[in-house]
Amino acid sequence: MDDPPIAEAILIEDGAVAAVGTRDEVMALACDGVNVVDIGDNVAYPGFIDAHAHWIGDRDYYDIGSPEEAMDQAVRHGWTTISEQWVDDERITELEGLAADGALPLRVDAYLALNALEVGGYYGDWYADRQPQTGSLDDRLRVRGLKIHLDSGSGAVLYWDSATLTETIARANESGWQVSVHAVSTEAQEMVLDAFEAAIGATGPNPLHHRIEHALQVTDEQLARMRAMDLVPVIQLDGVAGDWVQWAASLGDEGSEVGRDYEEEGIEWLGRWRDLVDAGLHVAATTDMPWFLIDFKLTDDIGRPQDQVAGGMDGRGRVYPEAPEWVLDQLLSAEEGLKALTVDAAWALGDEAKRGHLAVGTYGDVTILSGDVTDATPDEIRAMTVVATIVDGVAAYCGDAQMCSQLED
Ligand SMILES: [Zn+2]
Repeated sequence: MDDPPIAEAILIEDGAVAAVGTRDEVMALACDGVNVVDIGDNVAYPGFIDAHAHWIGDRDYYDIGSPEEAMDQAVRHGWTTISEQWVDDERITELEGLAADGALPLRVDAYLALNALEVGGYYGDWYADRQPQTGSLDDRLRVRGLKIHLDSGSGAVLYWDSATLTETIARANESGWQVSVHAVSTEAQEMVLDAFEAAIGATGPNPLHHRIEHALQVTDEQLARMRAMDLVPVIQLDGVAGDWVQWAASLGDEGSEVGRDYEEEGIEWLGRWRDLVDAGLHVAATTDMPWFLIDFKLTDDIGRPQDQVAGGMDGRGRVYPEAPEWVLDQLLSAEEGLKALTVDAAWALGDEAKRGHLAVGTYGDVTILSGDVTDATPDEIRAMTVVATIVDGVAAYCGDAQMCSQLED
């Protein structure tokens, strides 16, 4: 995911990438006695980044008992970075304790929650005595940004009014905080676009990488504004296409505060993966763990990077194994899915210089899969396994006995 896009060998020294190139080039730069790991026919990728999830914070929902167990699941699934998207005071205290104990096997980017999931449930600017952290090689935990839940999961209820949202985003932007806003419905897109426009101007730029989470229902005009401001859409490629079948009903729920006439508004506004990518936006693909697990049960074949790439290619998800018709003209290539898990996911976290690609000076974060996703069908990608998850050059997870012994040398 850099130049060259594909390489034969990589040297990781003191946790950072020191060389990329042919085996001979890299070996010439390595010190004597360097530990050489031959990954055979497996393929190493820049460490996969789950830029919107709740692996640790919402672990109770999927029957995981401790943060250690939740992080273990994440590294087993191939993630070298997870971003916790709703972190309140209690959760940040827990994460900071884990970081202080050196107990984070992967990187965690925390987003501080500015509201509870209820109308008017603002927490105020409780972040104000903190600074957004850019992180260093030793810091696996970064308090990166702020999280606003503008509307509910299905988009049926708005939790904020426009004036409060605009003022809150303006204050955060002025203080140098990136803001990540959950926005599903077209009403929510309109409100968040207005608020970001007031903060950064109609044509950006967007140096703090403000984000729109889910961006599920987006009109043409809204897409053009998103593009003009270079806002970062963070979407889910696996499962969600199927979930929209369910959500179609709730989007038009008469009982909701924001009655949505789904049929009238047009199905073409839903799930615009291809349009977002074609607009040249940095589109990140994320699991939103555990909110798209079937019955909140995590299995070995769900919540994985492979499913994001494969789901983006055929529109199939776990809940509804058939792709809904409206997603068929929005499908992505494997390369585009891969970019959404690496380069652009790193962009969504504002750490694209250090993560999401492998080049001299980036973190030594690598995910090794059993195959090449750019040369496989979606089902072949789904069948691939995580061979190893490497963070700072050290195996956080290894599933291949022979390779594990090499990694441990
Ligand atoms: Zn979420």
